[in-house]
Amino acid sequence: MGRSIYFFGAGQADGDAQQKDLLGGKGAGLAEMTRLGIPVPPGFTVTTEVCNAYYASGKALPAGVEDEIKAAIGRLEALRGAAFGSPEAPLLVSVRSGARASMPGMMDTILNLGLNDEIARGLARRTGSERFALDAYRRFILAYADIVLGVPRDRFEEALGRARRQAAAKLGVDATRLNSAELERKVPDSQLDPESLAALIQRQKDIVLGATGRPFPDEPYAQLWGAIGAVFDSWKNHRAQVYRKMHDIPEAWGTACTVQVMVFGNLGDDSGTGVAFTRDPSTGERRFYGEWLPNAQGEDVVAGVRTPHPLSITGTGTGTGTGTGTGTGAGAGVDDESSLEARMPAAYAALVEVQGKLEQHFRDVQDLEFTIQQKELFLLQCRTAKRTGRAAVRIAVEMAKEGLISQREAILRVDPGSIDQLLHPSIDPSAPKSLLARGLPASPGAATGQVVFSADEAERRAGQGRAVILVRSETSPEDIHGMKAARGILTARGGMTSHAAVVARGMGKSCVAGCSAISVSQGRMAVTIYDDHGRSTGTITVKDGDLITLDGGTGTVYLGAVPTIPAALSGEFEELMVWADAVRRLRVRSNADTPHDARTARNFGAEGIGLCRTEHMFFDEERIQAVREMILADGELGRRRALEKLLPFQRSDFVGVFREMAGLPVTIRLLDPPLHEFLPQDEAQLQQLSRATGVSAKDLQRKSEELAEYNPMLGHRGCRLAITSPEIYEMQARAILEAACEVAAAGIEVEPEIMIPLSMTRRELALTRALVEGVAEKVFAEKGRRVDVRFGTMIELPRAALRAGELAEEAEFFSFGTNDLTQTSLGISRDDAGRFLGAYVEAGIFAKDPFQSLDVPGVGELVEIGRDRGRATRPGLKLGVCGEHGGDPSSIAFFERAGLDYVSCSPFRVPIARLAAAQAALAAEAARGPRATD
Ligand code: ADP
Ligand code: MG
Ligand code: MG
Repeated sequence: MGRSIYFFGAGQADGDAQQKDLLGGKGAGLAEMTRLGIPVPPGFTVTTEVCNAYYASGKALPAGVEDEIKAAIGRLEALRGAAFGSPEAPLLVSVRSGARASMPGMMDTILNLGLNDEIARGLARRTGSERFALDAYRRFILAYADIVLGVPRDRFEEALGRARRQAAAKLGVDATRLNSAELERKVPDSQLDPESLAALIQRQKDIVLGATGRPFPDEPYAQLWGAIGAVFDSWKNHRAQVYRKMHDIPEAWGTACTVQVMVFGNLGDDSGTGVAFTRDPSTGERRFYGEWLPNAQGEDVVAGVRTPHPLSITGTGTGTGTGTGTGTGAGAGVDDESSLEARMPAAYAALVEVQGKLEQHFRDVQDLEFTIQQKELFLLQCRTAKRTGRAAVRIAVEMAKEGLISQREAILRVDPGSIDQLLHPSIDPSAPKSLLARGLPASPGAATGQVVFSADEAERRAGQGRAVILVRSETSPEDIHGMKAARGILTARGGMTSHAAVVARGMGKSCVAGCSAISVSQGRMAVTIYDDHGRSTGTITVKDGDLITLDGGTGTVYLGAVPTIPAALSGEFEELMVWADAVRRLRVRSNADTPHDARTARNFGAEGIGLCRTEHMFFDEERIQAVREMILADGELGRRRALEKLLPFQRSDFVGVFREMAGLPVTIRLLDPPLHEFLPQDEAQLQQLSRATGVSAKDLQRKSEELAEYNPMLGHRGCRLAITSPEIYEMQARAILEAACEVAAAGIEVEPEIMIPLSMTRRELALTRALVEGVAEKVFAEKGRRVDVRFGTMIELPRAALRAGELAEEAEFFSFGTNDLTQTSLGISRDDAGRFLGAYVEAGIFAKDPFQSLDVPGVGELVEIGRDRGRATRPGLKLGVCGEHGGDPSSIAFFERAGLDYVSCSPFRVPIARLAAAQAALAAEAARGPRATD
């Protein structure tokens, strides 16, 4: 272990900003600010290594550390001309937690440590304010009792209430009918007079004695050891553990502990405390932004009892005076008089200078905590500010233009996942709302509409111009038309990769899935309401036609209409994309099944279609009938007759898609799902089909049962369909090639690629290829023109990856269908995995859901094997990926390393994939090391 303690004060510091691992973000930031000559109360940081040693030795400080701490306290005393434990010149400290990664509010901090009755009297004499000294003392006892001694805060509520009532009586306020919140507003902490405070302190001590059997510790060093231990202990408290899991923060990091001289924002009206951001964290606008409270301490600003005031006078906006915005964001109705700028211009000016210096120094937006003690400014924390996706884009682009960072850094600054928010409308954050339930954030965007419970009804009412939300237990391909018609989709069951979620993301529609609080039946939805502790408090019934609002980005469902703000692709966003496109190597295509989707994808910058699923074209009302006739036909002749009817529909679909994608490749996958999926799912549909076909309902039922499979995922699907009924693929190939000829004849460039799903052997490919080529020759002869068409296959089975060398003899391209390849490699069905994958992630068996983020060691190795063996046979073999992973940033990083040619994802993820591909290219470049010319 290296040194245990890093001191900072009087312009010098042992540590610096690079030492977050050892000092935590807070300790490193305080050291760096001190070095920069920024006013920071002096202090020292006990390292994370000491924290880990503390745990290793059963919660004891390593030998020698106590003495080092005492020596450091000695240095603080010398700097301040005060003494820890002295009533004459008391030195008080805060004891603060702080880990390597910011974990806001998860761990503990204790303020005003070093007080007892005698020292509090000394503090009162020294500051001339008895009220202040006693207020600091009672706050300290409360926090210490809660955090160190384990006597919960609410045990003291009653005592505090009594003190408030006592003070109220003196102020002439009738408190008899006020509840505790009203009382607190009428008699805020700063109104508690010394006498009531003294009584309160005595009662608090009695409560501690009663609860612990011991008097409150009077001796300052005993307090200090207790507090340092408690800060270390707070690394392992329940909420910190939950937070770490959510954010992938390792247990082993530990927290640092900073002991720092107190400064007081509650020393009167020329004191105060606040938080600030060097730019607006929600819009990214370059204006100094923040809030403060006069005569307040520490967390008063975020606690929300008193409404904090703005820092700047409205309208003058940026502190630096060079901002691009008008800075009116603080809104109307703000009392300018109360701003820090108006109340304490000198302290405000000092703060503005500090924030400018910090942003320049760290070259990123900073989030600051400050306190003003009798007009003198002190900084207590700085860290990289969290921001919305919108703000991240604007800040990165503007900083690059200001010359603060490079364009490459700008590209790396924006989390690709966060720009999802920019592409969809979002809930107006300032609107009032009433929470109904929470589910999974399956597809982002906000949507308001009337509840409907069936796809047909959704379509009917949308046809009348109503906005509807389709609510289902779960969705199936039968519901596509209703999903298309709806503004948003809500399901009770299913995970992030359920049908509803995948389809909604593809459509760019808001979706909340797996909302287990709702149950849908008989045209109504019952919603169980839970309180903050997860206890059910009753149910609400939502009927057909009632209004609800979905926030698919957070998985929240609201009752009634909540106003939304539309997606606006800013100029900065377009600029960032141009920079990203210039550095990326991977091409980005889109999965799109319709001309409409193709257009959306192209607008988002797709460079072709990587997966056009033909089966979605079958579900349309006009066509499903013919599809069913085809399935039910007894012989090949009957099938061909039904397929004949489908041909013109398919052809016109392809014509539309080719036109939209003029000049770009379009990969069309021939029929993939098992035929059973197209048959009626309920009695009413069965009756209807019976009437239409003249086949008895009973015979239909029997046929349907014949086709049912134990395990359809591994059943009669993909190119197996073409081996038993070649006429299906024949019709599809004809539709594609006729469409290509037709569009080419109109002078539009077409690049069709025909893709065979689920192949496992070379022979399957040879047969289907001969079939496609046969049709092609016929069509070309009929049309009197040829078009270039490539033939390829999906790699979705381990055998296909292993035998890629042979498959490449028949295929001109491979597309890794990583959804199925994950299912078949892991032997886990995606649709059933929701029930146990959560436990797998929890137990650390998988770091992330392998259906969302590629299992690189396993499935990734199959991709590499397929790549190597395929390219060994056919050096120029084009390699792509389609499936959910094509839009997942961490999977994209792998596909870049693996040297694939392109990824394909749903239209709304195209910009995300473009940015992620650029970041992956930059990371790959960095990994190769500096270029020879550098
Ligand atoms: P958190 O990590 O939860 O923000 P902090 O350690 O930052 O906890 O402290 C909580 C609050 O107390 C913050 O508002 C901080 O500015 C304030 N604070 C901490 N140390 C001091 C100090 N030495 N003097 C004055 N205020 C302090
Ligand atoms: Mg803080
Ligand atoms: Mg597949």
